[in-house]
Amino acid sequence: MWDFPSTLMSSQPLVIGKFSLGMGDRFAHEAEAQLAACIAAQKLGVEIVPVWNKSNREHNIIGSEPTSTRAAADAAVKALGWTAPYFLDADHIGLKTVDRFVGVSDFFTIDVADFIAQPADPAAVKGFVDRHPELVGTITLAGIDRPFTTTRADVERTAAKFLLAVQEAGKVYRHIVSVKGVGRFVPEISMDETDNPQTPPELLIILAAIADEGVPIQTIAPKFTGRFNKGVDYVGDVAQFEREFNDDLCVIAHAVKQYGLPANLKLSVHSGSDKFSIYPAIRRALAKHGAGVHVKTAGTNWLEECIGLAEAGGEGLVIAKEIYAEAHAHMDELCLPYATVIDIDRSKLPSVTEVNGWTSVQYVGALRHDQKNPLYNANIRQLIHVGFKVAAKMGPRYLNALKTYRADCARNVTGNLFDRHIKPLFL
Ligand SMILES: [Zn+2]
Repeated sequence: MWDFPSTLMSSQPLVIGKFSLGMGDRFAHEAEAQLAACIAAQKLGVEIVPVWNKSNREHNIIGSEPTSTRAAADAAVKALGWTAPYFLDADHIGLKTVDRFVGVSDFFTIDVADFIAQPADPAAVKGFVDRHPELVGTITLAGIDRPFTTTRADVERTAAKFLLAVQEAGKVYRHIVSVKGVGRFVPEISMDETDNPQTPPELLIILAAIADEGVPIQTIAPKFTGRFNKGVDYVGDVAQFEREFNDDLCVIAHAVKQYGLPANLKLSVHSGSDKFSIYPAIRRALAKHGAGVHVKTAGTNWLEECIGLAEAGGEGLVIAKEIYAEAHAHMDELCLPYATVIDIDRSKLPSVTEVNGWTSVQYVGALRHDQKNPLYNANIRQLIHVGFKVAAKMGPRYLNALKTYRADCARNVTGNLFDRHIKPLFL
């Protein structure tokens, strides 16, 4: 059993609200358009906490610094008069990359996926299992029909698989605390960028270990069953996802009570944009359990910029076509960092010559995530999704286009977040 440090209780810790949306803004030009979607939800009575997130990987590819994300978020909040909370997420950081973010961020996604399945100290594993006899045997959790049945060997195996990752998260957490202080940021632990999903019984063991490690996480990002490819719909067994998502919510509610984790602890769905086929399941589960959720939607924003430029026509459409041509030419290099989170069927990508002959309607139809439109092409969408380096290389030309066609981009950014994400999930 682990308690909050008393300093955390007395200093009014930063606490994230029930529903929050991770929003990416690779080129730091759309913060106002994104915030407008949260304002539209607020007008309808639902508070969605905006969390601007940009990973170290994205900063490296673009050549930007976290201070630019902070400046853009603060400016948007000021311009639109947003008085509710908002956060800046140092997305997917580890001990080696956190320092760049530590000054400006107040939400940290501590990514320990690389440490999963690395051997933990056998004595630490034994100590964990000895400390947690409640995890062995038949575990009945409120809301789950079939109890979990585990043996000591099962718990040992799971602890051996995850303990080093949790200990690493503890190191990163304590490092951030040493700079910012306890309760001055929202900690998340992510384990999503790995091959195998974590089952609900594994999640319970992981949460017990996180509590032992003393990390007061407010969000946790497991890898769920199925494919969460970037910018496109969920691929997998929706019924199984719904069962596991419900079970995970029950596991979290139980772990909050049993292990004294923060009461607002909630699931974080990474690569959560555009997963339209599971939104009804998520929505039902949240309502059933009265639970909150954090949904990260980072890359969908950049796609909306491309759609806005293409829709504007003229030089905007020219730039959108150039982005496709360059992304097509450098496909291998662009896809490499995202190999585990994209599935591009290259035989279904049109040639550059063909795309260069397209009208605005054809380009927008191919890229916009409207599965009812026969022009929609999920392969193009994923390629452009990972192709933001091409726009970064265009430098001022791309950024100037974002200014020239600001209204076209903003209309698509706000509409995408509000109509296709916030509405089906939360309204
Ligand atoms: Zn992630």
